[in-house]
Amino acid sequence: MTNDAPYKRPLPDLERKLTQPYWEATKRHELVIQQCDACQHLWFPPSFCCPNCLGEAISWKPVSGRAKIWSWIDMWQMYFRGFADERPYLVAYVELEEGPRLMANLVDIDEERTGLTCDMPLEIVFDDVTPEVTLPRFRPIR
Ligand SMILES: [Zn+2]
Repeated sequence: MTNDAPYKRPLPDLERKLTQPYWEATKRHELVIQQCDACQHLWFPPSFCCPNCLGEAISWKPVSGRAKIWSWIDMWQMYFRGFADERPYLVAYVELEEGPRLMANLVDIDEERTGLTCDMPLEIVFDDVTPEVTLPRFRPIR
């Protein structure tokens, strides 16, 4: 966000221990996901143990930020007033090159949704929405 208006949309809880490393990384413009030290499984969203082997030794692994669209919607519903002036906006499940899927906004796509399709290749963009919070979003690779 480049304007000076206060950010009015929901923000992550930066004090939550489970997700702190994730938000610290996005602040550095880096995407990280959890990886099990025992079986090397990668997953998202974060959890306190490996969903594959229940191991509790977990590392945060930097990932490429390249992804493809797994599914998406045009969001018209206004669950939060902060989105009133932005509808419709695109919400997608993106599949990271490394496998796990995460939910994020799609950006840099025109109003006609030209070329929007499943498997569209994407790259991450980091949106510094407040001085403390950076949100990952995805845009088509051109
Ligand atoms: Zn594991």
